[in-house]
Amino acid sequence: MNTCILKLDPQNIDAAAIERAGCILKAGGLVAFPTETVYGLGGDALNPAASEKIYAAKGRPSDNPLIVHIADMEHLYPIVREVPEKARLLASKWWPGPLTMIFNKTDLVPKETSGGLSTVAVRMPNHPIALALIRAEGGYIAAPSANTSGRPSPTRAEHVAQDLSGRIDMILDGGEVRIGLESTIVDFTEDPPVILRPGYINKSMLEEVLGTVRIDPGILNAEENKNVRPKAPGMRYRHYAPKADLSVVEGEREAVIEKINELTRQAVSEGKKVGVIAADETSSAYTAADVKDIGSRETDKTIARRLFSVLREFDEDGVDLIFSESFETPRMGQAIMNRLLKAAGHHIIKA
Ligand code: AMP
Ligand code: MG
Repeated sequence: MNTCILKLDPQNIDAAAIERAGCILKAGGLVAFPTETVYGLGGDALNPAASEKIYAAKGRPSDNPLIVHIADMEHLYPIVREVPEKARLLASKWWPGPLTMIFNKTDLVPKETSGGLSTVAVRMPNHPIALALIRAEGGYIAAPSANTSGRPSPTRAEHVAQDLSGRIDMILDGGEVRIGLESTIVDFTEDPPVILRPGYINKSMLEEVLGTVRIDPGILNAEENKNVRPKAPGMRYRHYAPKADLSVVEGEREAVIEKINELTRQAVSEGKKVGVIAADETSSAYTAADVKDIGSRETDKTIARRLFSVLREFDEDGVDLIFSESFETPRMGQAIMNRLLKAAGHHIIKA
């Protein structure tokens, strides 16, 4: 299959291009498109064959459900059994935005889209290209991240092309995404609502609107939760992994620098190529040949936006080992560390 790549200006969208992409989706084809979080791989959410194609293109396990993307609130009601008042409140504050909500589904959503579950995940993305495409398609686009399953999520169209060229019909290139980590997922089939995946909207931002919110214990890193299964099926898999072995080094700032430099010396003496992920504040302290500065701890939104891209860059550099600092920042630290530790297969080294 020949994958057509179209460059679009998000501020001045080419209506004919969106029309063309919408036709592909209506006919059961696949189109990757930008959202504010990461690039999505879109198919008609109400067409079981399209959802099956998404799983095949990504190599995604078929029990890992897809998020249904809508552009208008009125499209929520036909696909869900009920919308609790709290969900309505949250939607009015955060939709369109980096928020996915879980509801009990109606029969309109095929089991192929919901991964066999009786619930459905719904999001209204805040990106002009995504919204225009959903409307052109007719209202419902199923879209997981547009990467090969297990690889870092794509934050630029080039990442999508690396993974999916020849496997999908079209890529809409709208430039680099703004947030860079996938949406916060909140489950409204329980009360109080439960965070199934941390994201840009953190717990305290949710609590401002909802009052008490719980976090799925399966996504916490604490030792006592080791054997708790995350409720979102996608959070159970190894994910975001670069080709090299990635370890996160935790401890006091100076101790971490010393430890990483020592590990680097040792690996280099064994003939290995080493990469380091460090914040702006400390990146110049490392001796490895390949140090990637991921952004300042003061503006952790930059760290979030760069994370997946940095992991892909190390694949291109062909390093054998990657040592990363830990980024437990107050604003987005939980989301960043959730992705980083998954990418590292939870391999932590204490400095
Ligand atoms: P992605 O689109 O790649 O960000 O993956 C979507 C995430 O949403 C995965 O972790 C899924 O397991 C999760 N998800 C989708 N639908 C549901 C659902 N009905 N219940 C729980 N988690 C879901
Ligand atoms: Mg994904």
